[in-house]
Amino acid sequence: MKEQNREPSICPICGQSFRAHPALSRIDNATLICPDCGTREALESIGVGREEQDKILGIIHTKYDA
Ligand SMILES: [Zn+2]
Repeated sequence: MKEQNREPSICPICGQSFRAHPALSRIDNATLICPDCGTREALESIGVGREEQDKILGIIHTKYDA
């Protein structure tokens, strides 16, 4: 993994800093956002509500957070 030396980025949507590989926002196809917001946008695009998005992100975090 070469991710260790990556500078932390600030997500323009939620303001959280992250080192993980950024996601490309679907809003303008140019903005780099954090993986969480990327997941939210993807879920929203298939009609998943905010509450369900939170549940899914919670599951992702329990699996992948260090
Ligand atoms: Zn974000």
